[in-house]
Amino acid sequence: MLVVFLGAPGAGKGTQAARLAAKYGLPQISTGDMLREAVGAGTVLGDRVKAIMAAGDLVPDDVMLELVEDRLAKPDCAGGAVLDGYPRTRGQAETLDPLTRRLGLGEVNLVLMLDVPEDEVLQRISARRQESAGGNGRDDDRDEVVIERMRVYRERTEPLVEYYRATGALERIDGVGSVDEVFDRLDAAMRTTVQR
Ligand code: ADP
Repeated sequence: MLVVFLGAPGAGKGTQAARLAAKYGLPQISTGDMLREAVGAGTVLGDRVKAIMAAGDLVPDDVMLELVEDRLAKPDCAGGAVLDGYPRTRGQAETLDPLTRRLGLGEVNLVLMLDVPEDEVLQRISARRQESAGGNGRDDDRDEVVIERMRVYRERTEPLVEYYRATGALERIDGVGSVDEVFDRLDAAMRTTVQR
């Protein structure tokens, strides 16, 4: 079972992906977390992507493909995974299916598009920044970087909604409401897919 989360920065992908993965016993693959760990650890990859992430831009597709391929090849992914933050470009989506087929994981079964209006995601990110003021907040939650992340999302990632509508895997989920309410909607879509 391969599940992909799509949604704007601040839409709640990370939180919901973690819950869904835990409930269904699947590993959560968060490319944002993996890259932040690499930056924190000062690896070669981390040094390469640090400035790109701080600017709110996307890491090149070839770098991402290598990272995701290594992760999906691990034994804990044999039964599938919940992908949170990947794919994020058309190029990433187009190379994902051949990769997962080659690894014996089949194709993407379900794409959960968390739909949250732009003014609400901006408010959520600003609240997250205030909560972590002076602490361990994300560098890329500063206003000008958030604006760039939103622009990149609309330009590069939003077209994947159409891409996955065409494959039949897309489920648009209303992402407004409490964490529990949104989770129940996601879980309902997940149960339907599992039963198919
Ligand atoms: P967001 O809250 O913007 O959805 P993430 O935590 O998923 O943030 O990702 C943080 C940053 O990591 C992105 O702005 C981008 O620089 C980089 N990143 C994460 N996933 C990808 C990806 N699939 N392709 C390219 N860059 C990525």
